[in-house]
Amino acid sequence: MKSLEDTLEFMPQFEKRGGMIPAIAQDVRDGRILMIGSVNAQALTTALETRRAAFWSTSRNTLWVKGETSGDFLEIEEILVDCDQDAVVYRVRPAGAGACHTKNAAGQARLSCFYRRVVLPPRAGVQPPSTGAPEGSPGPKAEVEDPKLQPGQDSPGRDRVAALGAVTLEILPGME
Ligand SMILES: [Zn+2]
Repeated sequence: MKSLEDTLEFMPQFEKRGGMIPAIAQDVRDGRILMIGSVNAQALTTALETRRAAFWSTSRNTLWVKGETSGDFLEIEEILVDCDQDAVVYRVRPAGAGACHTKNAAGQARLSCFYRRVVLPPRAGVQPPSTGAPEGSPGPKAEVEDPKLQPGQDSPGRDRVAALGAVTLEILPGME
């Protein structure tokens, strides 16, 4: 028998993940990630039959066809499955304004659930670019040892995780 990675049989590994696997909806027009959800066998079967992105709502414990109440269906053009068949990608064409239940300033459904990005803090252990060095000259070595780290201590440590509270978000251009 061929391995999951080699076979041309569709064998989604629901049991491996407790009955559900992640399903990502991606816009076929530009590759934008629209939303992520979970599918069980029933939701995936529904998606195959209706050619519309369907998920299993873990909060309501029910089948959920995206757009069934709003009309903002995500029409499936193809479905990808990953190497070990425990995740799928719905490649979709949005039938309505967007995929998200939130609305933009114009009152339309946002195209994607991923309308905010994390403002990345400075990279730990990297010194800011030196000023005054001649253009093109090699700067100081970028990666420096963190003096606070003891041997065997992992980075990020507990204190770093706590710093997540100080991280902020910004709305992506066009998603306001
Ligand atoms: Zn959303």
